[in-house]
Amino acid sequence: MHVQSFNQIEVDRSALRHNYTILKSCTRSNARLLAMVKADAYGHGMLESALAFQEAGCCDFGVAEIGEGVALRKSGISHNIFVFLGFQTYDAHLLFEYDLTPIIYDIESARILSSEAVSQNKAIGLHVKVDCGMTRLGIMPNELQEFVAVLQTLPGIQYQGLASHFPRADEPASQHTSEQFIRFEYLGMSGRNKIPELVTHTANSGGILYFPDSSCDMVRAGISLYGYYPDGEEGRKRAVGETLRPAMSFKSSILQVKTVGAGTGVSYGHTYITDKETKIAVLPVGYEDGFSRTLSNGGEVLIHGKRVPIIGRICMNLCMADVSGVENVQSGDEVVLLGKQGNEQISGDAIAEKMGTISYEVLCMLGNNNQRTYIG
Ligand SMILES: *Cc1c(COP(=O)(O)O)cnc(C)c1O
Repeated sequence: MHVQSFNQIEVDRSALRHNYTILKSCTRSNARLLAMVKADAYGHGMLESALAFQEAGCCDFGVAEIGEGVALRKSGISHNIFVFLGFQTYDAHLLFEYDLTPIIYDIESARILSSEAVSQNKAIGLHVKVDCGMTRLGIMPNELQEFVAVLQTLPGIQYQGLASHFPRADEPASQHTSEQFIRFEYLGMSGRNKIPELVTHTANSGGILYFPDSSCDMVRAGISLYGYYPDGEEGRKRAVGETLRPAMSFKSSILQVKTVGAGTGVSYGHTYITDKETKIAVLPVGYEDGFSRTLSNGGEVLIHGKRVPIIGRICMNLCMADVSGVENVQSGDEVVLLGKQGNEQISGDAIAEKMGTISYEVLCMLGNNNQRTYIG
C-alpha cells in the first residue's frame, strides 16, 4: 500500500538528460561519461536516475558499494557498473555474479579476486586507484609499477583501468589540478605502453567543467549531472551558454494557519518572539525530513510565490513560517522548500550556504529522506 506523504521530492528526468548532454559536450569527444549514482544518485533515486542517463546515452555507472551495484544490475541496467570503495572478502563472489567492476587500492583485494576467479573459472576486470594528491583512497604513485607487476602474475585478473581523483578541481584558479593531472597523465602513459587499451579517468564535475584537458578516456560526473556546479552559485554565474538545470524540487503543504499576538514565543525554546501580530503557517517538515535544524530562524520557503522566513526552531516533523505578508493562506496550500514557485526560486546552494555546507549534502539529505516522484 502506498500512502502519499505530505512531503514530496520531485525529480525532473528531462533535467537529468539535459545535464548529461551538456556535460558530454564539455568532454573530449571520444571520452566516456560515467554517471556517479552513489548515495541513491545524490538523493535523486539511483535506478530512475541511471535510466534517465542511459536514455541520454550513458553506458558507465559508478556506485560506492557492492550492494548498490547489485541493486542496479537487478533492476536491469546492463551497462558497466564500477564499485568505487572496494569490497569485503565474503562479498567478492557478487562482483562475478553481477558483473561489477571493482576499483581496487590494495594487492590483497587482487589476490582475493584472483582466487575467486580461479575457483569460478571466470576472469574479472578491475581498475586501480592511485592517489596523486587527494590523500584518500589509492596506492601511492611510486607503488604503481610494482603493484601492476604483481597484478599481472595473478590468474583471472584483467587490469583494465587506472583512476585517480581531484581534490581541488572546483577551484578554477588553483594550480593544483593541473599539477596533479600531469602526474596522473604520466602514470597513464606508462601504463598504456604495456596495456594499450588501459582506460584512464580522474576528472569529477570540477575537472569536466573547469579543466577540460583532464578528460582522459573517461570522466566521472556527480553533482553536475544533478544540475549543480561544484563551486556553487559562483560556478553558475560564471557559466556561459546552456547551463545545468537542477533536477530536484522539494514540496509540501501547509497543515494549519494561525494568527498570534505580539510577544508570542514560537516553537521549542521560544527562540523566536513575535514583535507584532503574526500569521503563522505550520508545515509538516522537520529535520527528520532532511530539513536541517540549523535552518531554525534562518531558512526560507516559498508560499503563493512569495519568499517567507522560517521562524523558531525546526522540530523533528514540523516547522513554522511567518506568512503575515501573504494573502489568503490556507491549510493545504503548496509550500516549496527547494525549487521554483511563481517567479521565486530556492536553490540547493542557497540552502547549503545557510547550513554551512555544500549542495551535495542538501540534495542527499532531502532526497534520501522523502518520497520521490518523477516528471519529465
Ligand atoms: C563522488 C565521486 C565523483 C563525482 O564527484 P562530483 O564532484 O560530484 O562530480 C567522482 N569520482 C569519485 C571517485 C567520487 O567518489
